[in-house]
Amino acid sequence: AQLHYDVIIIGAGAAGLMCAATAGYQGKRVLLLDHAKQAGKKILISGGGRSNFTNMYTTPENYISQNPHFCKSALNRYTQWDFMALVDKHKIPWHEKTLGQLFCDNSAKDLVRMLLKECELAGAKVQLRTEIFNVTYTNDQYALETSQGDYTSSKLVIATGGLSMPRLGATPFGYRIAEQFGHTIEPVRAGLVPFTLHDQDKEQFAELAGLSLDVVAENTRISFPEAMLFTHRGLSGPAMLQISSYWFPGETFNVNLRPGTDVLTELQNTRKQRPKLGLHGLMQQWFPKRLAFTLCQQNAWANKNLADYSNAEFEQIARTIETWQVKPNGTEGYRTAEVTLGGVNVNEVSSKTMESKLQPELYFIGEVLDVTGWLGGYNFQWAWSSGWVAGKAV
Ligand code: FAD
Repeated sequence: AQLHYDVIIIGAGAAGLMCAATAGYQGKRVLLLDHAKQAGKKILISGGGRSNFTNMYTTPENYISQNPHFCKSALNRYTQWDFMALVDKHKIPWHEKTLGQLFCDNSAKDLVRMLLKECELAGAKVQLRTEIFNVTYTNDQYALETSQGDYTSSKLVIATGGLSMPRLGATPFGYRIAEQFGHTIEPVRAGLVPFTLHDQDKEQFAELAGLSLDVVAENTRISFPEAMLFTHRGLSGPAMLQISSYWFPGETFNVNLRPGTDVLTELQNTRKQRPKLGLHGLMQQWFPKRLAFTLCQQNAWANKNLADYSNAEFEQIARTIETWQVKPNGTEGYRTAEVTLGGVNVNEVSSKTMESKLQPELYFIGEVLDVTGWLGGYNFQWAWSSGWVAGKAV
């Protein structure tokens, strides 16, 4: 068996598969290693099995990083349109769901098949079920000790992703290798993750589990107009997942429960038109019944006729509805998080090639880097773009 390769890539996920095919097409001898039994497990379960594989409106603003400029070059060189062209070349049917989010019509399996096919066409070898025990660098080459034997390579690409969903094979391997070669790791935490609530809040909202509402979730950093979902454990839905990536433990954020209108004006106008309408009745017109009931109860809003409410009382009600304050207990953590925030410090990596600035011929791609996308296909696009530029560079 061949033991020396031009390029060894560790991690056969989204970024690793793209990188392997791209490097293979460059004429490189490529070995792609993974400890899992299957390549691209996260692709397979993503988007409810249909994978939200990119977003038509991808821009650098959809990413979180210590250095917001870092992602620009790769996203520019391998764009969402490039990936769509690849999907089309393989005749995989897809559709836009909402907000530019593209999904497979049939199954995410189509994408993994496509990427494996690309690796095959490019002559890149994919080897699964391989534990990596040790990596060293001597005499200008990398030496890997693995459960399948020893390998050497001129270049090493780390594509082992983040810590989210350990049951799918996520490990801190990439961070350890980065540290071994002198890199700093931006502190990691779970992102795109549901919130858990303090016991008293959980009890108050227990009745609301399953209820979904269009809201705007916002804090001083960002604002997301999307749906919020009450769950048995706390709060979920796209609006909550999105803001979770901009939230730190102990913080409060606001939810506008009735976005798109000025609630005070609405209250005053309704009072003029229907003075005898009770406040609880109006709340039931605005919100699902269970939520209307909970809001009135929690805030001790009397069921007076609107005519009997003062402007000051209306102001208070409007404020509560427009800036409903949420103070989570925490998040569900890596068990259910879609991504890991933080990771390999991007100032120590070339944005053009993904090569380490500290260690020759070592590359980092995908989620292991401190680049985290919003919900909506942006994380896969980062994996494709960073994987592609590294594949070209190696
Ligand atoms: P991964 O795809 O995680 O691949 C890492 C690979 O490295 C894995 O195959 C793993 O087995 C391997 N590995 C890890 N440690 C080791 C080790 N020690 N030795 C050997 N191999 C190792 N993003 C979107 O854009 N759209 C979506 O619809 C979407 N849905 C998601 C749904 C879920 C439930 C989750 C968890 C994530 C979702 N994401 C989505 C995020 C997206 O999956 C990731 O951002 C993306 O997969 C990162 O690609 P990657 O190649 O960097 O890492």
